[in-house]
Amino acid sequence: MTATTVQPDTAGQAPRPTFESLDPATGDVVGVHPIHSAEEVQDAVARARAAYAWWGGLGFDDRAEILLTWRSVITRRMHQLADLVHREMGKPHGDALLEISIAIDHIAWAAKHAGKVLGPHKVSPGLLMANQKAFVEHKSLGVVGVIGPWNYPVFTPIGSLAYALAAGNTVVFKPSEYTPGVGTWLVDTLREVVGGKDVLQVVTGLGETGNALCLADIDKLAFTGSTATGKKVMAACAQNLTPVVIEAGGKDSLIVDEDADVSAAADAALWAGMSNAGQTCIGTERVYVHEKVYDQFLTEITARARELDVRAGADAAAKYGPMTMPKQLDVVRSHVEDALAKGGRALLGGADAVGERFVQPTILADVPEDSLAVTEETFGPTLVVNKVRDMDEAIERTNATAYGLAGAVFSGSRGEEIARRVRSGMTSVNSVISFAGVPTLPFGGVGDSGFGRIHGAEGLKEFTYAKAVTVQRFSSPLELVTFARTKVTEGRLAQIITVLHGGKKTLKR
Ligand code: NDP
Repeated sequence: MTATTVQPDTAGQAPRPTFESLDPATGDVVGVHPIHSAEEVQDAVARARAAYAWWGGLGFDDRAEILLTWRSVITRRMHQLADLVHREMGKPHGDALLEISIAIDHIAWAAKHAGKVLGPHKVSPGLLMANQKAFVEHKSLGVVGVIGPWNYPVFTPIGSLAYALAAGNTVVFKPSEYTPGVGTWLVDTLREVVGGKDVLQVVTGLGETGNALCLADIDKLAFTGSTATGKKVMAACAQNLTPVVIEAGGKDSLIVDEDADVSAAADAALWAGMSNAGQTCIGTERVYVHEKVYDQFLTEITARARELDVRAGADAAAKYGPMTMPKQLDVVRSHVEDALAKGGRALLGGADAVGERFVQPTILADVPEDSLAVTEETFGPTLVVNKVRDMDEAIERTNATAYGLAGAVFSGSRGEEIARRVRSGMTSVNSVISFAGVPTLPFGGVGDSGFGRIHGAEGLKEFTYAKAVTVQRFSSPLELVTFARTKVTEGRLAQIITVLHGGKKTLKR
């Protein structure tokens, strides 16, 4: 939650616009942060460009040492960071620790693997260019802008920050207006490690500050947030032809096959749908269950959901906390009301479950597929559970969305097959969200969920450009790129190409 103010004139300085981050459970002020102007954002980018001369010039090993030290500092202070995450966005301390732990693992992986993934790789020059040595390397871009959301204020931005930094870029980071303290904490800890150098800087503020970062002199923009804002970010970046990575929203499904472990599926669906108050981009929002196990699944998940303790505490007893953004309460309520008006059934919760700050667990069954709760991102602790005839129908319904971020499949025998037919960037079989904790796997979506990848080798390459180099080892018997080329050489070229590619080939059907 945020509120903007103008700080009074002190010590003769001009008043400075600021905003407050508020505890979403109580409304208490957690911190006061500056609203950085477009000029200040541009200044930060200029400082990042100057720092790039040093950081980009370091070898992968030196950068890895610094990033691994940063990783250790975060690890030693992880409870302090988890406390700040809890206060700014409301999730229980244990959930914050889980998020921070996975982020730490990603920093370590990016630091340790950047050299191997991005350094020069020899490739085959092919027969025509057999006299050449050929290699490709991935070079840093320069200054990367990162815009992050509030729902996973550590894990999500680290997926861009760590990979962009490990690749050799410097970064200017604009955290969400709901979690500016967490963003500042991350930046300050790296600043400590690099002795104050501007390798990673933070700019705080509202949407305008993010827009200024898009328009600044950056070499790439990594955005994580809603699809609607992603479109604005792309439009702004288009003005300077700045490339973008868009990690946007989702409407992920969890599919339950007739031979699945139904108890495990119910437990996983409940956690993936309701932990973090359902405010998870890769969380489950829809569940498609085989008709043979549908009733059993509904009984199991409803019984478990009834037990969830929802309140403000940081302790382990509180399973999830308040909604971080007050305006999201209206979205959740409208989706539930629409589902019920169209004929869906509330097995637990319902429109009355949406309070002033908290939403109680809501399980909706038999919800028509044209309902908002099925077509739009709800981002609350609600689950739509619908019955399907077979797995073909489950896949068809899963794929009938403009989004394509992630999902899960529970099946005894066909998990991998079903997972591969789902149109999304990531799927876990017989578990939920596991791919996010595997640093070697790329993270990202298709369609309205965005494009580009963070994490893994793809995530490192995302913040680089490919540089191709050939080195002539000896002169070729076929001198092709010279005005001295002869008819004989051209004839030989035609013969070689005919031998290589002119054989008769018929399509195997
Ligand atoms: P928003 O799209 O509202 O905001 C994301 C970021 O963009 C914030 O820092 C916001 O700043 C900033 N912003 C707002 N307006 C502009 C603008 N015009 N130009 C540039 N930046 C701008 O998303 P939320 O923060 O509400 O995050 C929730 C969304 O993020 C959900 O849709 C969720 O699915 C998605 N998400 C996707 C993930 C993925 O990896 N695919 C991971 C996590 C979340 P401010 O807060 O100051 O307005």
